[in-house]
Amino acid sequence: MDLKSNVPSGPVATAWSRHKFDMKLVNPANKRKYNLIVVGSGLAGASAAASLAELGYDVRCFCYQDSPRRAHSIAAQGGINAAKNYQNDGDSVFRLFYDTVKGGDFRAREHNVYRLAEVSASIIDQCVSQGVPFAREYGGYLANRSFGGAQVSRTFYARGQTGQQLLLGAYQALTRQIAAGKVTMFPRTEMLDVVVVDGKARGIVTRDMVSGKIESHAADAVILATGGYGNVFYLSTNAKGCNVTATWRAHKLGAGFANPCFTQIHPTCIPVSGDHQSKLTLMSESLRNDGRVWIPAKAGDKRKPGDIPEGERDYYLERRYPAFGNLVPRDVASRAAKAVCDEGRGVGSGGRGVYLDFADAIHRLGAGVIAERYGNLFEMYERITDENPFKVPMRIYPAVHYTMGGLWVDYNLMSTIPGLFVLGEANFSDHGANRLGASALMQGLADGYFVIPYTIGNYLGSNKLAKVDKQGPEFKRSEAEIGERIKKFVGNKGKRTAASFHRELGKLLWENCGMARTAAGLRAARERIPQLREEFWNQVIVPGSGSELNQALEYAGRVADFMEFGELMCRDALERNESCGCHFREEFQTEEGEAKRNDVDFAHVAVWEHKGVDKEPVRHQEPLTFENVHLAQRSYK
Ligand SMILES: Cc1cc2nc3c(=O)[nH]c(=O)nc-3n(C[C@H](O)[C@H](O)[C@H](O)COP(=O)(O)OP(=O)(O)OC[C@H]3O[C@@H](n4cnc5c(N)ncnc54)[C@H](O)[C@@H]3O)c2cc1C
Repeated sequence: MDLKSNVPSGPVATAWSRHKFDMKLVNPANKRKYNLIVVGSGLAGASAAASLAELGYDVRCFCYQDSPRRAHSIAAQGGINAAKNYQNDGDSVFRLFYDTVKGGDFRAREHNVYRLAEVSASIIDQCVSQGVPFAREYGGYLANRSFGGAQVSRTFYARGQTGQQLLLGAYQALTRQIAAGKVTMFPRTEMLDVVVVDGKARGIVTRDMVSGKIESHAADAVILATGGYGNVFYLSTNAKGCNVTATWRAHKLGAGFANPCFTQIHPTCIPVSGDHQSKLTLMSESLRNDGRVWIPAKAGDKRKPGDIPEGERDYYLERRYPAFGNLVPRDVASRAAKAVCDEGRGVGSGGRGVYLDFADAIHRLGAGVIAERYGNLFEMYERITDENPFKVPMRIYPAVHYTMGGLWVDYNLMSTIPGLFVLGEANFSDHGANRLGASALMQGLADGYFVIPYTIGNYLGSNKLAKVDKQGPEFKRSEAEIGERIKKFVGNKGKRTAASFHRELGKLLWENCGMARTAAGLRAARERIPQLREEFWNQVIVPGSGSELNQALEYAGRVADFMEFGELMCRDALERNESCGCHFREEFQTEEGEAKRNDVDFAHVAVWEHKGVDKEPVRHQEPLTFENVHLAQRSYK
């Protein structure tokens, strides 16, 4: 597997400018001759489809929702980072770059991260021009708040609905191109395969989720912007539809999968309340700007929070990390919450919770200001828990939230399959072993608005692409395989639902490949998953047929992919004999319980090559070098 990063040589600060100049261009009159497929209409996909169509390419955009506007990006709450330095508090492109490399525990590629920081300011300009209603200061300037892992305020936001507002902006740009006839939109259409012809990605095969029709689509290049795979854990903060299908099927065709075990556990989610749940709810990290995290100082203290005096509380983040306090990065805050709950000091019915308390902020600023900043989040919390956070502290606990792993891409965002580009959460590129808050929206929009419009031109301009026929054997083979799989599902005489298998897989992964991992646990999970997979294929029941709207069928297909993917996650976690960012192997920790990296053996991206479902995959490495942010033990003290 060729893992050439294609990072430009020379200083990191001017690399992207040099690269943009060096790359081939496609003449404006020739752009309309190219057909591009974009799978995904979230922030990454919608921004890419709109920008490429605006340039003149013919674009087809696919999503499984009934409208591109319902992509999971709509759920993003807290904000988007950008190095604008509006606060005059010391921010710069270099500082955002530095914070992101350090925040990712030195497991990201420096050049990609620098470019991300560099284009961050343009994203805000673009979105403001589109009319995205970012919060403003009294005088009219855009407002900022702080997010974890940074000591400056650089997060732009629209109350607790930043993703929704950004997506509306991208959606408007997309619909403009739909109206202009440059984008053809395929909602409620699920991509089930990538098609590779003569070694290049030349199309996809889809299923119309309403009629069940299987169809091929040929193109000059394919872009996947299909989001993250956090739902492999069954319980997560992701929308229920999020899945690994698109990237996993591309992986099976030759796209390397990078760092699949890097999963972000977010520290502030509403705690699990019982076995009935199928979804967890995030309480945005922005709340840690004003909320203080604490637990009772003594184990087993069952008093109501209001009855516990100040002197008998432990504000453990402020105590352990005085420099960053409640705004330590997510991995650090999550582990600290787990540790105090393991000591028996957790709150709530199952003892798996800590308080996030706004009493001080309400006293200092008034309830009105807090409502203005976080009103919709407080309301959401109250609706779910029946507790009013203006009166009692929120109870929060870590939950699966984001996946840093994804398909490997080079500096041009191209996977190991030529012509297959991967954007947004679906790729592995910028966050290393831990993503800083408010950086996913930044990355998705950077990829879609500012990177792919250049790099795809370079690919198209450098390659002679013969016309492909969607009646060709590669397409027909894939259509037949998909048909067979559907037949197998609906013809199965099983008794167990896909959901019950998914729940079992998720629990297994949470316990063994979740917030804390051990070699023994990972080995046990790896042994169990193939058995569970076999049980799944023998016992799953899928009612209805393939030629109609059939949500049970869609779900079963996604769970089947999770069953294969989950095993790779455990394998990846087992091979990485170190702790870094969110990947916490209990065997590798400092005396203070922090992640202990092994830079000698593991300062690399692990990239997996598929060799067959029941065959050993091959682990490749892309070495990482740090010339601008020097390798050091992370400290937030
Ligand atoms: C509750 C929550 C809050 C968050 N808040 C923030 C925040 O404040 N700031 C921040 O930076 N990040 C935040 N994030 C993370 C961020 O929202 C996501 O990482 C980001 O929106 C992902 O965007 P995307 O475009 O890559 O993918 P998505 O928005 O997930 O879009 C995926 C698209 O791919 C399509 N798709 C997927 N598979 C297929 C298939 N097989 N066939 C056809 N179409 C397919 C879907 O239909 C969809 O259109 C949050 C995440 C969650 C869960």
